Amino acid sequence: MKPRKQSHRAWRIVVAGLAALIASTASAQRCAVKPASIPLGQTVRLRCEVPAATARLNGRTVRLFKQESGDWQGLMPVAVADAPGTYSIEFLAEDGTALASVSLTIRKTIFPSQNVVLAPQIEALHSTPEEMQTLTTFRDSVSDVKYWEDPLVAPLPGCIISPFGVKRLHNGKPTGEFHAGIDQRASDGTPIRAVSAGIVKIVQPFNVLGGTVAIDHGQGLETMYLHMSKLNVEAGARVKEGDVIGYVGATGRANGPHLHWVVYVNGVPVNPQQWVSLKSCGSAKKKSQTK
Ligand SMILES: [Zn+2]
Repeated sequence: MKPRKQSHRAWRIVVAGLAALIASTASAQRCAVKPASIPLGQTVRLRCEVPAATARLNGRTVRLFKQESGDWQGLMPVAVADAPGTYSIEFLAEDGTALASVSLTIRKTIFPSQNVVLAPQIEALHSTPEEMQTLTTFRDSVSDVKYWEDPLVAPLPGCIISPFGVKRLHNGKPTGEFHAGIDQRASDGTPIRAVSAGIVKIVQPFNVLGGTVAIDHGQGLETMYLHMSKLNVEAGARVKEGDVIGYVGATGRANGPHLHWVVYVNGVPVNPQQWVSLKSCGSAKKKSQTK
């Protein structure tokens, strides 16, 4: 009698364990993150099979959107200044109900330092409060329509003179800033193309950024192109992938013609090299022509 009762109890524990395992597997399958381990300054793709409205990572909340494929997708940025470690991305329904919790590892990432030599009058350029407000408004807006599609195309074919994330020094002095985009080598007047379809939001000269075009590609993806010699679109225009939006220049805080461009994911600058395939120019000319 006694051994039999014990074996019955053991079975109940096994069944309860199996049920918990099935439940956790089902929950893990409802939403997924890709990749599950990522360096600083990169983008995590979010996908759910159930209607997910938002996802949260360490105090940062982003929206998910229903796709034509029938699932819900979103983009979670990992900022350069985030702390490495293991986190949970929490997925929530419209009413705030928890849908899933998926683990993400943010890896320790070393960004090198880079000195940029600037003429005194170029170094002295500063943004006005109005310029800062225009940029903040652009970065903070997340539109519902998705214009972009994978893969993005490079805005021009030049190699990378200065990568994303490097700590910047100006004339040997630390600026406390990191390079929030990439610099591509290009001669004055080279056409600059939209990396994907979208709506043009900013077309204007800025003190520090120079001739600038900013595009909203929808659902949290935005790009911005700086130091242009000539702007070739109007604010409000709808552009297709590959449309010429302007031409390479050295306007604003630049020491020679090049293209500096930025990818924003839900307002956070992320590494464009995760989005497009581009070669580095190598170390020989590392210090030339950068902003
Ligand atoms: Zn730059």
